[in-house]
Amino acid sequence: MKIHCNDIDTHIETHNYDSTANSFFFTTPKNEEELTRTIYSGRGEELECRLCCVDYEKSDKLVYLACSHFYHESCIIEWINKKKKEKSEPACPVCHHAIFK
Ligand SMILES: [Zn+2]
Ligand SMILES: [Zn+2]
Repeated sequence: MKIHCNDIDTHIETHNYDSTANSFFFTTPKNEEELTRTIYSGRGEELECRLCCVDYEKSDKLVYLACSHFYHESCIIEWINKKKKEKSEPACPVCHHAIFK
């Protein structure tokens, strides 16, 4: 199911997400340098970045979060910086899982 960007509440607070769930594929980074980066190879799926509402294109730079959601690198970095400015903990825009340890 494709969720449209407009459905996402952009006023996200850090909720008590159950971080004890061990189903994550990636380790939680401590800082931006440790974020899991990858290049989108194009999977033939209709996937869009939930932050900028643009479909991923082959060889886009993506960042995978520990919750397994991914975004354009530039979009999530911008999001993280925005959260830092607001002095709130950066969390995944979709599932609210904390991005950093
Ligand atoms: Zn984006
Ligand atoms: Zn997430």
